[in-house]
Amino acid sequence: MESNELYDVIIVGGGPAGLTAGLYCKRAALKTILLEKGLIGGQIAISKDVENYPGLEEITGFDLAEKLSRHARHFDLEINQQTVTAVTPGPDTHMVKLADGKLIRARALILALGGILRKLGIPGEAEYFGIGVSYCATCDGFFFRDKTVVVVGGGDTAVEEAVFLSRMARKVFIVHRRNEFRASQLLQRRLMNEPKIEVLWNTIMTKINGDDRAVRTVSLENVVTGEKRVLSADGIFVLIGYEPNNELIPPAIRLNERGFVITDEKCETNIPGIFVAGDLRQKFVNQIVVAAADGCVAAMGAANYIEKKKAGDESSEQ
Ligand code: NAP
Repeated sequence: MESNELYDVIIVGGGPAGLTAGLYCKRAALKTILLEKGLIGGQIAISKDVENYPGLEEITGFDLAEKLSRHARHFDLEINQQTVTAVTPGPDTHMVKLADGKLIRARALILALGGILRKLGIPGEAEYFGIGVSYCATCDGFFFRDKTVVVVGGGDTAVEEAVFLSRMARKVFIVHRRNEFRASQLLQRRLMNEPKIEVLWNTIMTKINGDDRAVRTVSLENVVTGEKRVLSADGIFVLIGYEPNNELIPPAIRLNERGFVITDEKCETNIPGIFVAGDLRQKFVNQIVVAAADGCVAAMGAANYIEKKKAGDESSEQ
């Protein structure tokens, strides 16, 4: 990769959306690079079991990430583990700045930046991160064998991971702010069959308490009765979803009121040649299969855009 090098497509983000976009761009013979600052596979690389990716009855998130990455590399996708620090739209080409100061340009960009873990923002959360507070049961559950853990959240992740944690922990509490889960019925049924799990409905966590070395208790409050209590706990798993990772999105690109990028049916933003795919794009559901589908659409949209632009450039030269 050379400074100021021109690509047909630069993809930012190496999750299912970005990798699928890479695969389709390469198959369309576009000169493409994918930039990813962290784990190839994105959030799914740290997900436990994936049971709803069509054609794969059961696979770990890590293995699916590996398969997606291998598939994209099979078509010679250039993947570079670099942090992008800025994205600047231009009239003909768009510019991407890398952490090492290099600038690269492309006719089209596909931004597949996904989400960032939502935090509770309560006292003790940051202080005990890594010594009792975790955002990934698959990664850290092992450290809480025969201990008491508290999961916060009511979505698919919280319910699925609570079941996973119940296999090793002595006791699992789920603290959920409402009186019903938004998790799928299938996952809820699995949870109800686990005797070690206790759900604390209508409850919020207000503080995480401990000493220098570890978490000892959490402060809870029932939002209906106002009752406050302190619960002994060794580990806290905050599994309350994601915020859109829109930090790199140029200000001229339209977002909705929740910070997700608004696109058309080609995944194209209001700036021609800039496409957004995956969890960062405003849509009805965020699922791996949808992110992958977005990657395909964005890549084909980009190919179409580039073809038209080249044809336009040629005719204006004649
Ligand atoms: P999610 O669906 O956005 O759910 C977040 C949960 O956390 C909700 O129950 C929400 O409560 C709660 N919450 C949000 N902010 C909170 C706060 N500040 N304090 C307390 N609670 C808070 O997130 P997710 O469970 O991580 O799932 C993300 C996406 O991945 C979803 O589309 C999901 O279907 C998918 N997923 C699928 C699977 C699977 O199919 N096996 C597994 C994991 C994830 P409310 O309900 O009150 O809003």
